[in-house]
Amino acid sequence: MEYKIARIPGDGIGPEISEEAVRILSRIGELYGHTFAFTEVDAGGVAIDKYGDPLPEEQLEACRRSDAVLLAAVGGEKWDDLPVDKRPEKGLLRLRGGLGLFANLRPAIIYDELRDACPLKDEIVGTGLDILILRELTGDVYFGERGGDDITYSSDLMNYHDYEVERIARLAFESARKRGKKVTSVDKANVLATSRLWRNTVSRVAKDYPDVELNHMYVDNAAMQLVRNPRQFDVVVTGNLFGDILTDEASMITGSIGMLPSASLGSTKLGMYEPIHGSAPDIAGTGKANPIAMILSCAMMLRYSFDLEEEAQAIETAVKAVLKGGARTADIAAGGKSISTREMSDLILAELK
Ligand code: ATP
Repeated sequence: MEYKIARIPGDGIGPEISEEAVRILSRIGELYGHTFAFTEVDAGGVAIDKYGDPLPEEQLEACRRSDAVLLAAVGGEKWDDLPVDKRPEKGLLRLRGGLGLFANLRPAIIYDELRDACPLKDEIVGTGLDILILRELTGDVYFGERGGDDITYSSDLMNYHDYEVERIARLAFESARKRGKKVTSVDKANVLATSRLWRNTVSRVAKDYPDVELNHMYVDNAAMQLVRNPRQFDVVVTGNLFGDILTDEASMITGSIGMLPSASLGSTKLGMYEPIHGSAPDIAGTGKANPIAMILSCAMMLRYSFDLEEEAQAIETAVKAVLKGGARTADIAAGGKSISTREMSDLILAELK
């Protein structure tokens, strides 16, 4: 079977790690008999330089024609002074909107081998941690009506429709079914009307998933529980604003930004997959970038867009084996011996057999 992938190398370390993703996927293709056909798409700073636009329409169209989008990283100092509408990040927002992606999925995993990078005590982390956080992307206070003058009075309208909550709740329950069968829905229902709608809707959807356990938690408590007892969580689902904050908190407790992938999904199989880290211009071109977040993003793509669970697990298992063998890029080496981007992906490739 042929899968069409729109590949966005982007800026900074993006092209370097994106190249490693292609190598890994090509190996998976050989091993399992799939063809991955890549179309290179310009987005972010590189597109601003070429076309004066972070996401020209024909580039977005190329993504729409694909089965999945694999994004490395966009942005950098060079483009920081441009007006907000012309910045590389605007290209990302347009991509999400243009592809109808409404949920961001971020696993927060602590690998046993990288326990030292985790700032939490051993007795809190136990034998490891594996949380999946779903953040709603299209609604909430970020997209509500704005008012005021930014000096004497301002307002941002927090709002949700039931259908927006329902579709992400379903995704959360479906995801939990494939994991620990537990969903924690995070809101502020003791204060906010929007949160009461959120809670009522999630509870209603839960009736269709009797095999999945649901609990509700206020966001202030969730922020605390993430550092106090993170092992209680399996799948966490929350709105755009709370999710923005909690996903960053969860990433921090894993202690390794170069390791974490993410997926943005909508109501079709066409998803966008990217590392959570940025373009790391400080190390671009030095061969120091950790390619693992990018490679694990490929695994998420295989799982969620192509339903290739075995192939996804093969990549995840290979990464774990390489970490177990002691290989480290500089960001996870804690000052010890480190290897390059290419060497790390060579080791992962060698595990794929
Ligand atoms: P953004 O606003 O796009 O997130 P940023 O500069 O705040 O950009 P990153 O680009 O993620 O954030 O970089 C933060 C730090 O983490 C930098 O020092 C960078 O070198 C490091 N870093 C990020 N990704 C990786 C990676 N894959 N491998 C090694 N180091 C990385």
